[in-house]
Amino acid sequence: MKYCKTCLQIDTRPNTKFIDGNCIACHYHKESIDEDFEERFEVLKDIIKKNPKKPNQFFDCIIGVSGGKDSLRQALWIRDKLKLTPLCVCFSYPPEQVSQLGVDNLSNLIELGFDTLVVASQPETWKKTLREGFLQFQNYQKAGEYAIVSCVPKIAIKYKIPLIFWGENPGLQLGDMGTVSENGYDGNNLRFMNTIAGGDLEWLTKRGLDKKDLIPFSHPTSFEFEKANIQIIFLGWFWEDWSGINNGKYSASNGLDVRKADVTMSGDITNVYALDENWVSFNQMIKFYKYGFGRVSDHVNESIRRGELTREEGIKIVEKYDGCCSDEYIETFCNYIDISKETFWENVHSCVNKELFEITDKGEIIKRFEVGYGL
Ligand SMILES: [Zn+2]
Repeated sequence: MKYCKTCLQIDTRPNTKFIDGNCIACHYHKESIDEDFEERFEVLKDIIKKNPKKPNQFFDCIIGVSGGKDSLRQALWIRDKLKLTPLCVCFSYPPEQVSQLGVDNLSNLIELGFDTLVVASQPETWKKTLREGFLQFQNYQKAGEYAIVSCVPKIAIKYKIPLIFWGENPGLQLGDMGTVSENGYDGNNLRFMNTIAGGDLEWLTKRGLDKKDLIPFSHPTSFEFEKANIQIIFLGWFWEDWSGINNGKYSASNGLDVRKADVTMSGDITNVYALDENWVSFNQMIKFYKYGFGRVSDHVNESIRRGELTREEGIKIVEKYDGCCSDEYIETFCNYIDISKETFWENVHSCVNKELFEITDKGEIIKRFEVGYGL
């Protein structure tokens, strides 16, 4: 277990690499400090010029949205700064999963004047994919994330709107190298993100799910991308002040409603992440037990890079809050996929990294390492 010397990134992150003791996200951040963002804006203007609207094309571009902090800020920026007309595409969750905040925030985005297409999977299939994702991989989002990423280019191909804007580059901003392309703004490799990589659905079909019910979980092929001239652009690369917190502040001043739950329940120190559901909190707790870092680490690392926190201050926050999750969220999830809480914890225990954590006789999971230093 090796820590980045600048932030609190650990080399246990899948698909990551370290350069001179720094994680790839810190390495990229240091390189981008001297970047000329006006020059980057010219690059973006060029891309838009090269993707002009065809005569029978009504929308200039597509944005994948949830109505949350990133998508709201992007939608406003694309419309008001770039003067483009976007079609917003939202993959929605069933009523048992979506939070009231998620519903209100999507309504807020639409009310701000954005044409929005809401896509959903049929509910029984969706529930089965969450159940199988959890029971087989202890990650209920495994299929869902794929559907969210896939629906946008699928709509782009269908509606013949080749230019897609996406927010964060997971390679440069989180350290997931699977998605990295020749340049920092090309998002056509998004399908290789470690959490969704491959898109192989055999793990669902072998459990009795029918292929014809899994259409929302399939991604267009590279050939289809090329044929339709699809170009996904990471907007995060063009914004000097791109960060979760900054996007949250900007969006909150444009009607975004934020999380009110205590950090010890939500495991969200920012109150603006993944507002459209709460189960993500235990998924991040499980990530913490698998790899030694969760959502709090990701957020603290971003703040350390931006100089808003020192590494020492970050250590205290991560020690206190990483892996926090309310029992209430676990309970509603267990009810939804119809498993007992015992089965839930048996599954969590099965994937705990035993080098980094110890499981006591009572089933408590105790950390063996010291944040920022290691074992
Ligand atoms: Zn780092």
